[in-house]
Amino acid sequence: MAQKRTEVRFKQYTLNNLDEIFQLQELTAEQRFELEVVAQVFPFKTNQFVVDELIDWSNIPADPIYQLTFPQRGMLHDDEFNRLADAMRGGNGTSKQLQQIVNEIRYSLNPHPAGQMDMNVPELDGEKIEGVQHKYDETALFFPQAGQTCHAYCTFCFRWAQFVGIDELRFSAPSMDRFVRYLKAHPEITDVLITGGDPMVMNSKMIRKVIEPLLDPALEHLRNIRIGTKSLAYWPHKYVDDPDAEEVLDALSRVVKAGKHLAVMAHFNHPRELEPPIVAEAAKRLQVIGAVLRTQSPVIRHINDDPGLWEEMWRRQVQLGMIPYYMFVERDTGARDYFAVPLARAYEIYREAIRNVSGLARTARGPSMSATPGKVEIQGIAEVGNEKFFVLRLIQARNSEWVQRPFFARYDPDATWLNQLSPAFGESEQFFHSQLRKGELEGISGVTRM
Ligand SMILES: *Cc1c(COP(=O)(O)O)cnc(C)c1O
Ligand code: SF4
Repeated sequence: MAQKRTEVRFKQYTLNNLDEIFQLQELTAEQRFELEVVAQVFPFKTNQFVVDELIDWSNIPADPIYQLTFPQRGMLHDDEFNRLADAMRGGNGTSKQLQQIVNEIRYSLNPHPAGQMDMNVPELDGEKIEGVQHKYDETALFFPQAGQTCHAYCTFCFRWAQFVGIDELRFSAPSMDRFVRYLKAHPEITDVLITGGDPMVMNSKMIRKVIEPLLDPALEHLRNIRIGTKSLAYWPHKYVDDPDAEEVLDALSRVVKAGKHLAVMAHFNHPRELEPPIVAEAAKRLQVIGAVLRTQSPVIRHINDDPGLWEEMWRRQVQLGMIPYYMFVERDTGARDYFAVPLARAYEIYREAIRNVSGLARTARGPSMSATPGKVEIQGIAEVGNEKFFVLRLIQARNSEWVQRPFFARYDPDATWLNQLSPAFGESEQFFHSQLRKGELEGISGVTRM
């Protein structure tokens, strides 16, 4: 699988140059066609590092990294797939008809989960600040326009709608200026999380433009700058031998030099992504400039729904000086019927994995759902009398008073998301619901979807 490269080349592959992926010749014509059909609906892009270094081509289509970046037949329901395939095969479908089918399917896939569209966008002087979300008191999310793509697209990504251009959350050149003014007016904000897409697709010059204004001495209350990125897995060269690598590290190091904490929230889905020696090298270089690496991933069927993999992943991360941080539940959007893992199973995977690692790796919290009220963690499955319950808590909440308060739901082995859980002990709703509805009256829309 790992053929040696002599030069560092960031080569990307899309539907347009699929033929250049030499190993794809191992697919049958039918598999190849299926890939092209599904890629009409979901974004597809991968790169040479993923293709050459991460995928085990002797094991496709089952290989987890292949599943992670190449659209799979099972991501569409049969009827959707067949409609689309007929239109493509018959050639009688005009491109306009094809686009219409594609759009219908996309809109049926809950493209905007958890009210992130309108609920979390803050205002300054009565006007929304594009490219900013502020859901939890202490942390503001910033989506730099140049960081709204990725080195490769993950098939399960909850931001998929953004990459195919139907997400109305337009990232029209968020002005650093307005964002900084907002931060100045909000002393409760201690953290800025720069996110995307993957902000580390930006070059050093763009990174500097985002970071420098945040180091303004007037923003003393801002203590932590976090960067959410999958680059350590998909393009570790970014920090090692990319022509811009030194400059990138220099731009990031300014955060630490300004006395703030630089947190790299690294996204890894599978232990194999931690194997290439260049990943350890990239991590080391970030640590040398003072960054602390924390890791996160959802539990995803076909990719990592196995406690042994999590155990191995957390162990290796700790060995590389990374701090396991979050295990997420795959969100209720996109091809989730293909990727979703029942909550009960996700909890089992978490528990199995965490009990087998040392305390240094037990820093990972989860499994956690990023839902409308906040991040809901499954803390356990309890048995009282003869009945089973999910014990839940909000580890982050829209209203900080809700944080850490335990609540309960009836056990359901098949439930995959919060909205499928019924409150336990005869309650008609969870404690936060009435306040969420009140929020709606006050002008926050979208909350009823939960
Ligand atoms: C996860 C998340 C954060 C960060 O939460 P922490 O628990 O502090 O890591 C901030 N904002 C949003 C919208 C999030 O989903
Ligand atoms: S790197 Fe992150 S934002 Fe990009 S496709 Fe993967 S999960 Fe989505």
